[in-house]
This record gives sequence, C-alpha cells and structure tokens, in this order.
Amino acid sequence: MTPPATSLGSMTGFDTRAIHAGQPPDPTTGAVVPPIYQVSTYYQDRVGELRGGYEYSRAANPTRAALEECLAALEGAALGDGVRGLAFASGLAAEDCLLRTVCGPGDHVVIPNDAYGGTFRLFARVLERWGLTWSAVPLSDLDAVRSAIRDRTRVVWAETPTNPLLGIADIAGLAEVARGAGALLVVDNTFASPYLQRPMELGADVVVHSTTKYLGGHSDVVGGALVVRDAELGEQLAFHQKAMGAVAGPFDAWLVLRGVKTLGVRMERHCTAAERVVDMLVGHPGVTEVRYPGLAQHPGHEVAAKQMSRFGGMVSFRVRGGEDAAVEVCNRARLFTLAESLGGVESLIEHPGRMTHASAAGSPLEVPEDLVRLSIGLESIEDLLADLEYALQSDRS
Ligand SMILES: *Cc1c(COP(=O)(O)O)cnc(C)c1O
Repeated sequence: MTPPATSLGSMTGFDTRAIHAGQPPDPTTGAVVPPIYQVSTYYQDRVGELRGGYEYSRAANPTRAALEECLAALEGAALGDGVRGLAFASGLAAEDCLLRTVCGPGDHVVIPNDAYGGTFRLFARVLERWGLTWSAVPLSDLDAVRSAIRDRTRVVWAETPTNPLLGIADIAGLAEVARGAGALLVVDNTFASPYLQRPMELGADVVVHSTTKYLGGHSDVVGGALVVRDAELGEQLAFHQKAMGAVAGPFDAWLVLRGVKTLGVRMERHCTAAERVVDMLVGHPGVTEVRYPGLAQHPGHEVAAKQMSRFGGMVSFRVRGGEDAAVEVCNRARLFTLAESLGGVESLIEHPGRMTHASAAGSPLEVPEDLVRLSIGLESIEDLLADLEYALQSDRS
C-alpha cells in the first residue's frame, strides 16, 4: 500500500500544512513523524551515484529538508511553485547568509530605526566592517524610506511588528518602494509568525525567522530560517547556506517541526491572553503607555489590521517612575519568568534597555529605559493577570 498522499494540493488550510507539509509518513518504516536523521554522510552505489539523493548533511539532510519544505508551505502556499525554505543554526545565521548572498562590499541597506538588537549589531559591528553601509529610518514612514534609498541600495529590511516597541510597517507599501528602487524587501516575520502574517503574499521577496521563538514555541531550541519566493534567488541562497555552513542540525530541525504543528492553536491563545493583559495594563496607574498593535490608538493599528489576522502575543509597556521602576517590575514578577527571548509556552518578562537591546545603547535603535517587554505564554490567564498586578504594585505604594 502506498502511504497517504500529502501533496500541497490537498492542504488548503494553514494547520493542515503545518502538520503535514514536507512530512509524509517515512517511506521505509511508515513512522508518522519524520525521523531525526542524525547522520553526516550517505552511501553512494557507485562514485557520484547517490543511493537516496543525499550526499553530505551540510548540503542537505532529510530532517532539515522536511522542515524547509514545511516552512515554504506555511509562508508561501498561495504563491505556487518556486518558493523555497532554508533552515539555519540561528536567526542571525539566516540573516548573515542572506545579506552576504544578496549584498557585496559597497552596497547599501535601509534598516528600521526600531528592530531586534542583534540584527542591528550584525549590521553595525560585523557587516559594516565588511563594507556594507546602512541607514536607519522609521519604516512606518514610506517617504523616509524612499529618501533613504541610494544607487547601491540592495535591500530594504523590515521587521513588523518590531522588537521591542511593536511598531508596524506597511509591507505592501514597502514592497512597492523596494521594487521601484530595484531592491529586495526582506521582512523579519518572527513576532507575527506565518499564522498571523504572510509577508510574501503582500509582495515581500524574502521572509526571515528566528525559529527560536514562535515557530519552535517551547524555548528549547535556537534556530533560524529564510523563505524566498524567487527560485533563482533560492538556488543562490542554498549555495551560500552550504558554502558558509551555518545549517540547522537534525535534532534542532526536528524540534522546530514539532513546534510548528501546534503553531495555529498556540498563536490563537497567545493573542487571546495578550488582549486580556493589554486590557488590564491600559489605565493601570503604574503604567504610562501600552504598546500593542491591537489597540485602536496604536499609530500602526490600521495597517496591522490589514496585514495581520490577529495582533500577536507580545506586549510592551512603559512604567511610571522611570528605569528603576521598570527594572523593579521585572524583578518582582514571579510567574512571568525574567529572561530574554520570546514565543514559548511560558510567559517571559524583560527590560529591553538592559537585556535584549543593550547592544543598541547610544545608537538610533536605543529603546526607552522605562520599557518592559512581555511575551505572553499559555499559562492560565487569571494567573498571568494576578502576577502582573503584583509586580506593578510597588510603584503605587
Ligand atoms: C531573536 C530574534 C532574532 C535573532 O534570532 P536568533 O535565533 O536569536 O539568532 C531576529 N529577529 C527577531 C525579531 C528576534 O526576536
């Protein structure tokens, strides 16, 4: 008997693709989950005749291939053939591979003035020494992006929603600007995940993920991915992935695949809980400002409502009393775990200025010092609300 077909044609729904794309029952054993092919090299029947199509695991590995196919199906199912996924050892390894594939020394990149601190550090401390130039602009302002474009601008780099300020960039608008300039639009889709937002459907050329976050979803793996719509660029990236070597290992790829299966149900619950937390924080006497794209007063709310199906599980807020008070809120929280990262089942709290975004201090990407960032997890919502009430109490007494 042949195993059930899992061609994309029979997988119209997102959750179906998350569970089955790239993951038919194992052809040799019938295992319903792709095995962890913990192997470096593969048998050749004769010189150059590969027994199963694989040669060496830096070039390709079956577990990683399953993840890459699944990610392509999640971000690009509506775009037809040619969409390609590539899995890396971390989000930053994916970013580095992309930038050194599409840019060369002397080229220019437009980056957001509000973005993940590590992305900024990659531009400012590593790729700048390699000869790449960059301009940091507010990406929500399309005119500012247009006027930052130069002759050698190869990439417009967007992150939406942004880490940690939850700013929103208009993906379709940016795609038009980038296309007009002959540049690629790259969107870091880590905060939204493909369940809430699919940038390539809105015109982006490349999607970047830290799979460490929502795609993995369980704070147990570091990984990254690129998904690209143009087949030729996909080939170039695959060549550089192999030539530079920062690939996802088989077990890490397997963990991300396992996480992806529940992405849909997890994101729905992250969003529902985040909305409840936002309701509680808005109007709280210890809070001066809440940043969440689902709030009608958020400057990017209308764009977010157009390009996202819900508004995500990340919430940032500013604390009355400045930096010390914000740090104290982080220290007092008991259920919200004080830690960097995001997107896992456990709720996390952090102070971006001293933690995830310390590397952006003194740069155009510096964040307010009274800012606290929450990653809303999947614990009982009442417990999360009670913990935040407790953590915020000290500022009123
Ligand atoms: C964490 C993160 C990254 C970097 O990913 P790593 O897996 O830590 O290398 C990039 N972009 C965003 C938005 C992130 O949150």
